[in-house]
Amino acid sequence: MAVPISQMWTVATYVLKKRLTGDKRYPLVLMLEPLFRCNLACAGCGKVQYPPHILKKQLSPAECFAAVEECGAPMVSLPGGEPLLHPQIVEIVNGLIARKKYIYLCTNALELKRRLPEFTPSKYLTFSVHLDGDREHHDFSVCREGGYDIAVEGIKEAVKRGFRVTTNATFFDGTDPNTVRGFFDEVMDMGVEGIVLSPGYSYDKAPDQTKFMGRARVRRLFRAILSNRKPTWKFNMSPLFLEFLMGDRKYECTPWGSPAYNIFGWQKPCYLLQDGYTETYKELIETTKWEEYGVASGNPKCANCMVSCGYEPTAVIEGFGSLKGFWGMVRGTFSSYKDAHALKLLNDSAPHGPAKLVQIAEPAHASMAETNQ
Ligand code: SF4
Ligand code: SF4
Repeated sequence: MAVPISQMWTVATYVLKKRLTGDKRYPLVLMLEPLFRCNLACAGCGKVQYPPHILKKQLSPAECFAAVEECGAPMVSLPGGEPLLHPQIVEIVNGLIARKKYIYLCTNALELKRRLPEFTPSKYLTFSVHLDGDREHHDFSVCREGGYDIAVEGIKEAVKRGFRVTTNATFFDGTDPNTVRGFFDEVMDMGVEGIVLSPGYSYDKAPDQTKFMGRARVRRLFRAILSNRKPTWKFNMSPLFLEFLMGDRKYECTPWGSPAYNIFGWQKPCYLLQDGYTETYKELIETTKWEEYGVASGNPKCANCMVSCGYEPTAVIEGFGSLKGFWGMVRGTFSSYKDAHALKLLNDSAPHGPAKLVQIAEPAHASMAETNQ
């Protein structure tokens, strides 16, 4: 795991405090969407499909700070849209750093190199760059020739200036695991702190609905990608969440672990679904019918979801909330997950063309904080 010790310590003590106080539902990462507009229009994006009058709107810095203080999460993800298009993004970031929040600013990096001089490197600030694969795959999936080269230039400049940088990608049906593993090598050579990945969620607003996977296919894909790991690969995610993706752990969703706030208010129940909004965080926690969500609920909208914003909080809480969980994280951090069957899956994978690797909105989150750009 590539997350710095100071950040892990902050999250670990936060989880332990919540356990001691008997708090049942608490946030780990606030998904703070300051705006929905973007300078790209990726095929699977569930955000940039809003009508123009919504895309023009944005949260003010004061609204962002009020949301952060109200929910109290130790980490804040800034997905979008493209946060670097927000005219007051520097003020928002500096205000969050002053509040000692670990921020993941999710960006497609088209504007990153140009805007970097306005930011100051800090252990609290990570640029989480949406990068979908090698040049061919990335440019295809973001529908922008040259997008990969611009993003890589931004990454390299940010690394050179001493910023924390991660990459995030969301994978869909048809992804070639061999291509993804080659891409991991490329990314680590750029000097990033770690890689963030997640399966996609089938946004009903996304224009391309054909690439979403069921749970069994997700597990098969991630077992092929993440087994037999190279020691050079670093992941900015909970090792337990990666084991969940590989099919080694069974988790239920913890949707309140990554509450989402945007121009409409607090989104029920999670970053992915929109079953209404509340004005306050308290109201979100108290009025959402949590039992109606997650795989066990039988809700069809949750049936195929294995997305990090729902399941990584479960993994993080287990990892920091029990000795067994903590040992699992330590073991996972240093394991290469040798697996002969997964090697066979890799060898059986026919090479796919660029149409097979697609990124949709986010990420955010992060680690669960960064897998949803
Ligand atoms: S299972 Fe997925 S879609 Fe359903 S509540 Fe959890 S995160 Fe949201
Ligand atoms: S997926 Fe991210 S980069 Fe692509 S259009 Fe949506 S917000 Fe923009």
